[in-house]
Amino acid sequence: QAKEQGRNTYRFYTSTLTIAANERLELDARLRRALTNEEFVLHYQPQFDNLTGMLIGCEALVRWHSPEDGLIAPDRFIPLAEETGLIVQLGDWVLQTACAQHKLWLDNGLPDIMIAVNLSARQLQQQDFAKRVAAILDATGLPAERLTLELTESMIMLPGEQAIELLRELKALGLKLSIDDFGTGYSSLAYLKRLPIDELKIDQGFVRDIPQDRNDMEIAATIIAMARNLNLKVIAEGVETKQQMEFLTLQGCHGCQGYLLGHPLTPEAFIERLLHAPDRLRPEIARL
Ligand code: C2E
Ligand code: MG
Ligand code: MG
Ligand code: MG
Repeated sequence: QAKEQGRNTYRFYTSTLTIAANERLELDARLRRALTNEEFVLHYQPQFDNLTGMLIGCEALVRWHSPEDGLIAPDRFIPLAEETGLIVQLGDWVLQTACAQHKLWLDNGLPDIMIAVNLSARQLQQQDFAKRVAAILDATGLPAERLTLELTESMIMLPGEQAIELLRELKALGLKLSIDDFGTGYSSLAYLKRLPIDELKIDQGFVRDIPQDRNDMEIAATIIAMARNLNLKVIAEGVETKQQMEFLTLQGCHGCQGYLLGHPLTPEAFIERLLHAPDRLRPEIARL
């Protein structure tokens, strides 16, 4: 009987594994088709200056507009795209689209805010990555100083001088570099100090439970103080309440991003949002 059960268990596992593999293959195929069929879209989440309340930038966040399943969040397809390598093409598309969109906004009189784009490790591993970025800036005409590239700590924990060289190459283009989800990785202060970065983004995990969680408040305050000491800009993500915003501002946090201030928006809705930010209003925007 035990043998029988054992065999059943074995059969059960083989079939789930097969299904999982099939599903992955199918999703991969669907993602490749989605790229050709231009089913991906970018939403833009506004970022604000804590002291002036001005809209100072936005982050481009990719979504998949699947004809069958509707709008799909990046967490459901970025990991697989990273595994299969499709992220390289998808990442190129994201960068190209975000830069072209922002250039169009600038050409139409929109204030010169920053645009931030997320990168994956796979993209950075390409030997010619900085050249690709340069080519996209060139093709779209977006001034490099309007672009921020978001990397994570794990992406830049490379042996020796590799990370520093790569980041220097990117910085040489004139763009800004930001460390996303900061505090969740293992980078040390000594290491950070050597990197040519401009900004830290406090991970939303440390913001979520402010003011209930004393430890998170300590961590957020420490990151802010550290960033300021290193002459880095510091932005908090996932800000959902006024209390969080007030605490972070009091600690000296430069910028905030989160549902309290604005959700990720379609390009059309983002423009609309700008029209209702009086301090950022320019008559030309109405033409868009
Ligand atoms: P991320 O770069 O840390 O982006 C912030 C995520 O937090 C976004 O989720 C955003 O919608 C969400 N968020 C913003 N404000 C709030 C808030 O107040 N509360 C809460 N709970 N969440 C908030 P999203 O758009 O689902 O993106 C998830 C992750 O997917 C991103 O995290 C980023 O790591 C990745 N991702 C998104 N777009 C791209 C892309 O174009 N390329 C790559 N490589 N990764 C991307
Ligand atoms: Mg990000
Ligand atoms: Mg983040
Ligand atoms: Mg993230």
